[in-house]
Amino acid sequence: MTSLVHQRCSNHPAREAVVRCPECRRFFCRECVTEHSGRMMCASCVSRLAAGAGLQAGRSPGALWVGLALGGLLVAWLVFYYLGMALARIPSEFHGGPA
Ligand SMILES: [Zn+2]
Ligand SMILES: [Zn+2]
Repeated sequence: MTSLVHQRCSNHPAREAVVRCPECRRFFCRECVTEHSGRMMCASCVSRLAAGAGLQAGRSPGALWVGLALGGLLVAWLVFYYLGMALARIPSEFHGGPA
């Protein structure tokens, strides 16, 4: 039962295709396409183009920033952890003890 009138989504055979990707020439349903520079493309073509653009840019500091953020979080956690330990070790007479 092949329908020649209605194209089916390449990812969802049960769904009717509404968009044809201009890059790979395949048909997709609405959920499988996203707008990329004014054109409706499938997710794989968008990611492929985005990866190509990132490679052309040469330097994509995404991983570097993620590492820096994680390092900063770790440092902050260590600082607060040892600060808490130091505060817990302060003897009670430090607070309002005899002068
Ligand atoms: Zn495509
Ligand atoms: Zn689909």
